[in-house]
Amino acid sequence: MVGHTNKSMVSSFLPMTKEEAGHRELDVILVTGDAYVDHPSWGVAAIGRWLQAHGFTVGIIAQPRWEDPDAFRVLGRPRLFFGITAGNMDSMVNKYTAARRLRSSDAYSPGGTLGERPDRSTIAYTTRVRQAYKGVPIVTGGVESSLRRFAHFDFWQEKIRGSILLDAKADLLVFGMGEHSVVEIARRLKQGGSVKSCRDIAGVCWAAGAKESVPDGDDVVVMPSLAECREDPLQFNRSTLLMYRESNPHCGRVVIQKHGTRTVVQNPPAIPLTTEELDRLHELPFTHRPHPCYRNQIPALQSMIGSIAVNRGCSGGCSFCALTIHQGKDVTSRSEASVLKEAKAMTKREGFKGIISDLGGPTANMYHMRCNSEAANKVCRRVSCLHPVRCKHYGTDHKPYIRLLRKVRTLPGIRRVYVNSGIRYDLAALDNEFVEELAAHHVQGQLSVAPEHASPATLHQMRKPGSEYFLDFMTRFKAATKKAGKEQFMVPYFQCAHPGTGPEETIALAIFMKEHKLRPRQVQMFMPTPGTLSTAMYVSGVDPYTKKEVHVAKGRIARSRQRALLFYWKKEEAPHVREALRAWNRTDLIGRGPQALVGPGPAYGGWDPRARGPKKGVRFDTHMGIRVERATAEEEKEETWEAIVREPATS
Ligand code: SF4
Repeated sequence: MVGHTNKSMVSSFLPMTKEEAGHRELDVILVTGDAYVDHPSWGVAAIGRWLQAHGFTVGIIAQPRWEDPDAFRVLGRPRLFFGITAGNMDSMVNKYTAARRLRSSDAYSPGGTLGERPDRSTIAYTTRVRQAYKGVPIVTGGVESSLRRFAHFDFWQEKIRGSILLDAKADLLVFGMGEHSVVEIARRLKQGGSVKSCRDIAGVCWAAGAKESVPDGDDVVVMPSLAECREDPLQFNRSTLLMYRESNPHCGRVVIQKHGTRTVVQNPPAIPLTTEELDRLHELPFTHRPHPCYRNQIPALQSMIGSIAVNRGCSGGCSFCALTIHQGKDVTSRSEASVLKEAKAMTKREGFKGIISDLGGPTANMYHMRCNSEAANKVCRRVSCLHPVRCKHYGTDHKPYIRLLRKVRTLPGIRRVYVNSGIRYDLAALDNEFVEELAAHHVQGQLSVAPEHASPATLHQMRKPGSEYFLDFMTRFKAATKKAGKEQFMVPYFQCAHPGTGPEETIALAIFMKEHKLRPRQVQMFMPTPGTLSTAMYVSGVDPYTKKEVHVAKGRIARSRQRALLFYWKKEEAPHVREALRAWNRTDLIGRGPQALVGPGPAYGGWDPRARGPKKGVRFDTHMGIRVERATAEEEKEETWEAIVREPATS
């Protein structure tokens, strides 16, 4: 951090120093692993502004030196509580690749500098806050806390860890988006209540001591204990499934999980913000800039700065996605008036060139899509409204989104509006008017879609629609592109090594790509992140719903073989493809015939010295006292979801 020179500019941000805070005691101090950007997409800024709008004074400590308790004293002791978050991402996902190597940069740090946050930041920060101020109430929140609130798998340690609430020794953990819960905690503490008085707030987890009573009765769901999860992967599988099943705020029950003599108690989830509340949140006085203390750009902001979020939540429920469990299955959308207001304000911002880079959300075309049956939603325990079949209660009207896109793009001062957020193509294909609108006006050269795979077995485990939906959408998009007289591409994302994917499924995907002339530039290697159903399958090798075994590719060789097949057409990958096909007894796919995936030649894996040559260029770093290998540029690219269709959509 550098000196804060421009006082008037600084005063429009939440304070980061005592001077900026006017040397007054603050109600709440939020500590985050990200740099502070005053933008609604930054979780800590959204919570800070929301608290401020409810009458509380808030300060921010961003990326403190975690070894030093003094770094947590810069704003003094808060009157009510410290709120701790690792930032917008789980700190381990932020920092390490699927090969457990250090990434080269951190998109949420100034200049993209890596090393500005500790591993499992929530725990490290909470420990230092306790040292800095004995007895101060501590509340954790954000993605890392949410997804690690019960026994969870930590891929980087390859073990089941207990709830982060206990490891961090926090008083309360807020799961989900948190606005309602955090304000209620602040209110109760301000009224003189103790932290214990907050133990009945929706959206909160707390830990009961050995001698304290815990909720019981028919309405309480008892998860397998931490010890049971560690002993038996099937119990861990069940515990993850229960967490999902109790995630509906309208019928979710209290859930408890024993951790030795202590018990983690999760209250029912908080009701999501309404449209009016989401509008209010986005209309708070965000500056949409990094705090003036930063000299270098914050890479993640570059992709967000020209975008407008129109919704939150996702009804898709993909097994590997942490979003469903963090933001929820109910989609909340902003009103048209609120989005138009933000778009108009954007045209007045310095440097705005008339282009809105994205008008979207977790799934852009779910804008104002929702469950049409209040009665059904009240008792619904489905994780996805769309899988295995679209629920009859799910509303799929694209008109509100089409209307919004049209209105925003015709505002004075706006030249282009793009949709760069992902879209659900199975929903999009239900409305050709939407596909035509999209192709004619809102694609910036490339449209991102996420079929993820082509094998029905894998897609079932991922909870994604069948490849026929993708093909149908591709045909429609090509036709709409042609009609619009444009040349633009579709960029499908594919994923390898997801549970349920063995040699047969991987070969099926390669053949599908060949048939449809799809040549991915990069594919994503599945990473078992904390809290997801896919991770439970990875650990247990069992589908939590059907209880049937699923194939899990573990270890570098098995995972690399799958990755190689998706690059069957690349000359430099040919030896790896042959090696995989030989190992899988599918030499019939090696040769010169039309059915062949790869021509004849040498066969060796990516782990063979012949593949990579002598191990030069391996870089090491010392991180938190441990020597860690840095990821190569190639490995990092593998984690970027980017692939490209060979032919323009117009062809
Ligand atoms: S009832 Fe159907 S549409 Fe409604 S929330 Fe449940 S799955 Fe979704």
